[in-house]
Amino acid sequence: MLTTMHHFTDTRLRRVVRTLLERAGSEPAEAAQVADHLVDANLRGHDSHGVGMIPHYVHNITGKTMRPNTGLSVVRDGGAVMGFDGGMGFGQRVGAEMMEHLIPRARELGAVVASLRNVHHLGRIGAYAEMAVAAGLVSIHFVNVIGHPPLVAPHRGSQARFGTNPIAIGVPGTSRHAPFLLDMATSRIALGKVRVALNKGERVEPGILVDADGQPTTDPKVMFPDDEALRGALLPLGLHKGYGLLFAAELLAGVVGGGETSHPGTAGRDTICNGMLSVVIDPASLTDPEGMERELDIIVDYVTSSPPANPDEPVLVAGAPERMTMEKRLAEGIPVDPVTWEGILDAGERVGLPRSEAQALVSGA
Ligand code: NAD
Repeated sequence: MLTTMHHFTDTRLRRVVRTLLERAGSEPAEAAQVADHLVDANLRGHDSHGVGMIPHYVHNITGKTMRPNTGLSVVRDGGAVMGFDGGMGFGQRVGAEMMEHLIPRARELGAVVASLRNVHHLGRIGAYAEMAVAAGLVSIHFVNVIGHPPLVAPHRGSQARFGTNPIAIGVPGTSRHAPFLLDMATSRIALGKVRVALNKGERVEPGILVDADGQPTTDPKVMFPDDEALRGALLPLGLHKGYGLLFAAELLAGVVGGGETSHPGTAGRDTICNGMLSVVIDPASLTDPEGMERELDIIVDYVTSSPPANPDEPVLVAGAPERMTMEKRLAEGIPVDPVTWEGILDAGERVGLPRSEAQALVSGA
């Protein structure tokens, strides 16, 4: 199916999303922070975690399963170990507030381990690694997802048991090389990418989905069935090894972090709730910064000197695809498919933002 994409500048998209979130009840600063996080995800090519999440957020606000204007609470402060509760506030706000605690703490003590529980969708987890990296710190994040039916089947299973449990790892760059920024779902692809395929009328690649009978399928509809009995599942990345990572994120974020795990008792809340275990390290507490920079340059040069198997596809370092997409989208605008845009307009109407006003905000009229 051929779809005509809208193209919006990031500034105009930020403006309409900020206004919509304010109408949904967020104070202006929170609305701006969430809008920036979502549009930044689109700019980096992660449409799955961009403005397309708005209808879900509005659904959860109106259903009172998430609470706008709720900041981070410190529930435990043991110095190098901290515990936080998100009060089901916007993850984009609460997660950033957590990093603002962890960055000075890691500088002071060399490292800090933190758990965050009971927070609404944290969005693009790489955003938190980027905050640490911008401060010259290393950060590692393991996340689990509860509050709605599970999406990812265990290796050898046919029914879903987990969320798409992302992992993010950031290592600062050097004067010659950009930071390493690995940010990935532990499913073969993120659910939002299946939604994007469905909205565009496309199929997904083989090996990503199974149907309700556990049979391989490329039809994205199995993840958004009209009949719950027909729900399929995403598969973990990398067979048993990816399944191990997916399970590890569940245990670290949902058990060790003092939160909750994915099971029938937590699946029926009609919301998106994340748990996160984060480790932030000041590398200067482990090694001398010059030696680290030298070694980083050596390894990145060596890895990227591997001749590409396909000359059109050079060897990249994690974080590079997002930077390249951002450069392109800043210049050409952010493509938004019509189904996603329609969902945003509908969500806007539900919170008192008429379509005509939303259209005017995004078109600059
Ligand atoms: P992806 O598959 O697009 O990218 C994963 C990682 O691979 C990125 O770090 C990227 O830089 C790197 N990469 C891509 N191509 C590469 C190449 N050729 N060479 C080297 N590295 C390369 O990401 P995804 O798994 O679809 O995740 C999308 C987003 O969804 C992430 O931001 C993630 O945090 C988010 N997410 C959030 C939740 C949540 O509950 N909050 C759940 C799942 C995913």
